[in-house]
Amino acid sequence: MTQRAYLQEIRDAKRIVIKVGTSTLSHKNGHLNLHRIDLLVRQISDLANKGKEILLVTSGAVGAGLSKMKRTERPQSIPEKQAFAAIGQGILLHIYEKMFSEYNQTVAQVLLTKENSIDYRQYMNTRNALLTLLSLGVIPIINENDVVAIDELKIGDNDTLSAIVSVIVDADLLILLSDIDGLYDKNPHQHADANLIPYIEEITPQIEEMGGGAGTKMGTGGMLTKLKAAKIAISSGVNMIIANGEKQDVLMHIAMGQDIGTIFKARKTHLARRKSWLAFGKQTSGSIIVDSGCADALKNSGASILAAGIVSCLGDFVAGDTVRVLAPNGEEIARGAVNYDSATIQIIKGHQTSEFPQLFSGKIYEEVIHRNNMVLIS
Ligand code: ADP
Repeated sequence: MTQRAYLQEIRDAKRIVIKVGTSTLSHKNGHLNLHRIDLLVRQISDLANKGKEILLVTSGAVGAGLSKMKRTERPQSIPEKQAFAAIGQGILLHIYEKMFSEYNQTVAQVLLTKENSIDYRQYMNTRNALLTLLSLGVIPIINENDVVAIDELKIGDNDTLSAIVSVIVDADLLILLSDIDGLYDKNPHQHADANLIPYIEEITPQIEEMGGGAGTKMGTGGMLTKLKAAKIAISSGVNMIIANGEKQDVLMHIAMGQDIGTIFKARKTHLARRKSWLAFGKQTSGSIIVDSGCADALKNSGASILAAGIVSCLGDFVAGDTVRVLAPNGEEIARGAVNYDSATIQIIKGHQTSEFPQLFSGKIYEEVIHRNNMVLIS
């Protein structure tokens, strides 16, 4: 793909995850930079007005806690960090809520944990909740819920969190805003001759070396965690950009398809459409065979799969597993996560949803596989 076509793809991105780092949100003394936050909120609101779906992953809770407690040094011990994050999270959200509502946008606080991305059922639940917020026109404001978690149970940094979020929601683009223009061939704060790398197609060990260690006094990740995020994003088919959150109108310029920062090109995944490795890279546990009417509806209009269209079910699986969806001739046409286990599907196949209460007891879902949780293989 040419660079021009690539920038066009970025310009056309509809679902965008934006991560704002501590260094962008805070002054050097650790207190929140309200002017900067307001400029970001304004740009994000404008993108939402343009019809983009935005999810904001924000750091800054510790900074807000420090301001409130009139402290200037970043806490070092884990309990102290957690305490300041707990103090600051509510304050931070309140600031966002106030600023976004001035631009007529509604926000929702979403605090995620590592389990939300690893455990499959929680993963699907998170995905459904986030997609529902987007369909309501709400901007989810996301942070890690790490107030009481221990290190091993944490995602650990918001660069990685934002990459995971973009995979969970099948984003078209992930934007990491930092205090620097992008990835340089060496740390520009230490080397005056450092050069910006505008495009990266593959993260080689050489590129990882350029990332160095943790960055500023206030930031926690440095370029290393941004490269880790890039690996997750691009291998899942999500384009990623690192850009400078201090630059005026940076988000608007990205959305116009201007060549800014460092762009990481998404890899085309093995399936025809872009899809998430967390959900669909999993091994399939069984298959369901649908009738030709259902197969056509799937292929032509991306419908959900209802029990009425299912002819048979092979294998032993539980609700939440990924299964193959086969046409009557055995061709695999889709993959998706089932709402019912195989035993229940054996009972309900060929039936209308209205008949379900007579067939089994338990939670009733309209769809056996919801289209949001299914990918077509063409
Ligand atoms: P944030 O809080 O925005 O996530 P960080 O402070 O964690 O930002 O990371 C950005 C910092 O990473 C830069 O300010 C810079 O000091 C450091 N850095 C290290 N190596 C590089 C590099 N090769 N290119 C760009 N920045 C680098």
